[in-house]
Amino acid sequence: AAKKIPGTAHLHFDESMAASGADYAQLGAELREAIHDDQLFLLYQPIVSLDDGRVIGAEALVRWAHPVRGTLAPDSFIPAAERTGLIVPLSRWVLASAFRQLAEWIERYGDDAPEVLNVNISARDLREPGFATMVTDLLAQHRIAPEKVTLEITETVALELGDSVAHLHQLRESGIRIALDDFGTGHSTLSLLHDCPVDGIKLDRSFTQSAIDGRVPVSAAVIHLAQALGLYAVAEGVETAEQAEQLLALGYIAAQGYHFARPLPPERFAESLRPRDRELAA
Ligand code: C2E
Ligand code: MG
Ligand code: MG
Ligand code: MG
Repeated sequence: AAKKIPGTAHLHFDESMAASGADYAQLGAELREAIHDDQLFLLYQPIVSLDDGRVIGAEALVRWAHPVRGTLAPDSFIPAAERTGLIVPLSRWVLASAFRQLAEWIERYGDDAPEVLNVNISARDLREPGFATMVTDLLAQHRIAPEKVTLEITETVALELGDSVAHLHQLRESGIRIALDDFGTGHSTLSLLHDCPVDGIKLDRSFTQSAIDGRVPVSAAVIHLAQALGLYAVAEGVETAEQAEQLLALGYIAAQGYHFARPLPPERFAESLRPRDRELAA
């Protein structure tokens, strides 16, 4: 039971935010409609190479254009989606939309298309029978090489071992990469690295952002850990040039954050694929 203490704080937070079960039911009904009526949309945040700022990938981040409440951020509806089970159709929608976008970029930009596309999935998805097959079927449908896709495990609930790990193995065997999101916080722990087949970690932004005021040892230890385990690491939430330099000096090669770019609509993201200077030179 002692092991569950870190997760408990998280749960209490969610519950106090969530208000009543009736609200959840209401949100669930609305969300079901949103998935059907295409009220959801994706933004894409560039993942850049820290040494030259080149865009090497994109992370898809969902938004909900709610007819009454305006654009909602995922933190306001993903927890409800997880509780109601609607996360399963939601993730399917996100995966299909992101793959469709990547296929379009590859067709249009060829070698200039993002090398990797990261999509967030919930630990809840990994408990769904057939999840890994659903993902590989969608990839085949869009003729995307599995190597181009990284699934980020975003954990608001503890990952259950067993079936979930079997799904991760199946996904990795197909060539898809797996990354642990928000590494170092909440449920994204060292023990997961030990128990799950993963390819990479994303350093949580709480560590990235404090890299210059005393938490360098954590960022440094995480990159050493990644190197020792043969994992790649991406630093999240880089907001200043100073943080970027610090991370590069520590050995990080890839990062994301407002310093480079915010999550962007697909048209705007595409502009970042063709740097102005290269177009001028051409
Ligand atoms: P995440 O996967 O860790 O995504 C990074 C979050 O940090 C995004 O928030 C992004 O907009 C924000 N961010 C990026 N750079 C910076 C920065 O420099 N400073 C700060 N302060 N923030 C930055 P967003 O889009 O609101 O997403 C929040 C979380 O919702 C995500 O965290 C992820 O856990 C979840 N999420 C987003 N899209 C999906 C999805 O399609 N499916 C699932 N299951 N979860 C999703
Ligand atoms: Mg993520
Ligand atoms: Mg997250
Ligand atoms: Mg994260």
